[in-house]
Amino acid sequence: MSAVDTEADLDRALDALAGVIRAYGELAFDLDQVKAAETRAECLALVQRLVMGPARSEGNSPSAPPASQRDFGSARRFFEQRRREERDYVVRSSSNMRQALQAFAQCLSATMTEDQRDDSRVEIELERLVDVVGKKSPDVLEQQLGVLVSLVQTAISKRRERERRQVQDLGRRLVELKAELEVARTQAIQDPLTELYNRAALSEELERVASLAAFLSAEPCLLLLDIDHFKLVNDKHGHPAGDAVLKGVADNIARHFMRREDFVARYGGEEFAVLARESTLERVLQRSERLRETQGRLEIPTGTGPVAVTISIGIARHEPGEAAAIWLERADRALYSAKHAGRDRVEVAPALPLASLIPARQLR
Ligand code: GH3
Ligand code: MG
Ligand code: MG
Repeated sequence: MSAVDTEADLDRALDALAGVIRAYGELAFDLDQVKAAETRAECLALVQRLVMGPARSEGNSPSAPPASQRDFGSARRFFEQRRREERDYVVRSSSNMRQALQAFAQCLSATMTEDQRDDSRVEIELERLVDVVGKKSPDVLEQQLGVLVSLVQTAISKRRERERRQVQDLGRRLVELKAELEVARTQAIQDPLTELYNRAALSEELERVASLAAFLSAEPCLLLLDIDHFKLVNDKHGHPAGDAVLKGVADNIARHFMRREDFVARYGGEEFAVLARESTLERVLQRSERLRETQGRLEIPTGTGPVAVTISIGIARHEPGEAAAIWLERADRALYSAKHAGRDRVEVAPALPLASLIPARQLR
C-alpha cells in the first residue's frame, strides 16, 4: 500500500471518528452531575482538537494537527468517564422504581400474613364456641363469647391502624414518583441548552393552535428567527462561545415575548420560533422590530469576550383553515426573504389567496 493510500485511509477514519463523536454529543442527555449541553460542548471540542485543528483565529483557516499531537488518550478517558456516569444514572433511575415496587410487594405480603394469622385465631375461638354451645354451662358460654368479641375487636383495630400506615406510605411514595415523572416530562419538551421549549413541543403546539385558530378572536402569528452568520461566531470564537451566544439570544427573545400566551421555542441549531397565540399581526410586528433592534446592540458575554450578533425574522399570520405545515412553510419563506434582503431584518409573509388554502384534514 502506498503512503498516499495510507493517508487517505487515515483521513477517512478520522472523518468517521469525528462523525461518531458529534453524534454522541447530539444524543447526550442530562446525567446526575453533567448536563447534556456540557457533553455536547466537550464532544465538539474533542472533534476540534483531534480532527479539525484549533479554532480559527482571524485570517487563518483551520488545519489538522499532525498525528503526533493528537491526544487520543484524553478522548478515551472522556468516553470511559461519561459511560460510567451514564451507567450509574440508569442503574439509579431503575433501582428507584424497583425499590418502590419491592416496598409495595413487602407491604402487601406482610398484610396478608398478619391477616391470615388474625383470621386463624378467630377461627380457633369460633370452633371452641361451637364446641361449648350446647355442651357447657351459660357461664362458660359467656366467657368464650367475651374472648371472641375482644379478639375480633383487636383484629379490627390492628387492621385499621395498618391500613392507615399503608395509605400514608403509598401517598408519600406517590408524591416522590410524581416529582420524578415531572422531571422526565420537562426533559422531553425542553431544550437543555436554552431551557426554551424544544422542536417537538413546538410542533405539537403549532398543530393545536392551527386547529383551534377559528375559535380564537386574535390573529395567531408564527415567527421564525435565525441568527445571522452564526457559523462565523463558532469559527472565530469556538463552540463554547457559540453556545453562550445561543443562550444570550434565547434569553433576549424570551424577554421580548414573555406573555403567558407567547410560546418560545428553539427550532433547532441557531433557529428559534415564537408562537404569539393571542395577539395581532400589527403588535407582533412592533415587538419583533424592537427585539431585532435590541439584539443588534446586545453584547453577549462569552468565555472569549463579548460577542454581538444580529437576527433575521420571518412572520406569518395564520390564515383561516390553514394547516400547520403550510403556516410553518410561509414563515420560513418570509425568513428566507429577510436573509435574501440583507439580514438583520423582519419580513412578513403575504396573505394567501383563499382558493389556495388546503384544508388541514387533507394534509395529515
Ligand atoms: P445565515 O446568516 O445564512 O443563517 O448563516 P449561518 O452561518 O448562521 O448559518 P449556517 O446554517 O451556515 O450555520 C449554522 C451554524 O450553527 C452551523 C452549526 O455548526 C452551528 N450550530 C448549530 N447548533 C449549534 C449549537 O448547539 N452550538 C453551537 N455552538 N453551534 C451550533
Ligand atoms: Mg443563521
Ligand atoms: Mg439557520
